[in-house]
Amino acid sequence: MEEYADKILRIELPVPFPVRTTNVYLVIDEPITLIDAGVRTDLSFQVLEEALRGFGYGFDDIQRILITHGHIDHYGQAGRIALLSDAKIYIHEKEHRRIQSIGQLRGNLVSVFTQNGTPRGLLDETINYMKSAVQLLAEPLGEVRFLHDGDEIPFDGMVLRSILCPGHSPGLTCFYLERGGILISGDHLLNEISPNPVIDLSQTGPGPQSTSLKEYLNSVKKIENLSVSLVLPGHGEPIRDFRGALRKIFHHHEERLAMVLASLSSGERTAYEISRELFPDAKSFEVFLGLSEVLGHLRILFDEGKIIFETRGGVDYYSQN
Ligand SMILES: [Zn+2]
Ligand SMILES: [Zn+2]
Repeated sequence: MEEYADKILRIELPVPFPVRTTNVYLVIDEPITLIDAGVRTDLSFQVLEEALRGFGYGFDDIQRILITHGHIDHYGQAGRIALLSDAKIYIHEKEHRRIQSIGQLRGNLVSVFTQNGTPRGLLDETINYMKSAVQLLAEPLGEVRFLHDGDEIPFDGMVLRSILCPGHSPGLTCFYLERGGILISGDHLLNEISPNPVIDLSQTGPGPQSTSLKEYLNSVKKIENLSVSLVLPGHGEPIRDFRGALRKIFHHHEERLAMVLASLSSGERTAYEISRELFPDAKSFEVFLGLSEVLGHLRILFDEGKIIFETRGGVDYYSQN
């Protein structure tokens, strides 16, 4: 637990994923606000309760919950906290829709996986994993209010501004405290890890449909000119070198674009085959994340005219143009 500008407290909650923890932030200005909520597990609940108590608060003090995006490690526990506290939940409409339509999106995942040459066994494993993760680790949000790009979120002594940053997720919202130059980034910026441009599963059809990476890079440019001295991310330690972090992201994707293009130099490949070359150790859900990343790069290369694709037997094969 650390304090930022005295008013924003970081609480790390355990999550049963490779990232191990999610950061939630308690803003101790009226109305007392929690930003993100962690997964819905007993352990996560206990750790949050103890942390709140350590700061002199309880669940019933929370009056508002802001959700950066609709991934279970960020919203899973929000509904439960709202019931205990009567807090109002705020989330971008696109993220809310994503959570509500998760069953249908799972159907689209089957077509995206199949179309990109993913073996059936892996597909089943990933679908089952996602289904059980949502059932076990998240509960419905109940009543919500929608966040919009540019909304001012008032406190007694300060104002947070929401900044819509689609890419990692279509309605991901960062919160910016201009005074003090603090950016609460959700998974838009992370320390040490380059955020994954998770495929927007509402976009389906032949070829590289996923525009997530393009949108992500545009959203990185969108925040480039903010004055930020401290980034409070959704996972891991705070980032103090904001510009350095942005440079790393652009550099990472330039390298990856070159690698994906190079992987097609010896002949045609499916997106799945490219993802296995880049991420040979990926298992179940990581395969999905690897595929997301590769499809994002394929989309950019396709739009630049550097690659083409041919669909045979319902599977897309990519080659250099
Ligand atoms: Zn996320
Ligand atoms: Zn996350």
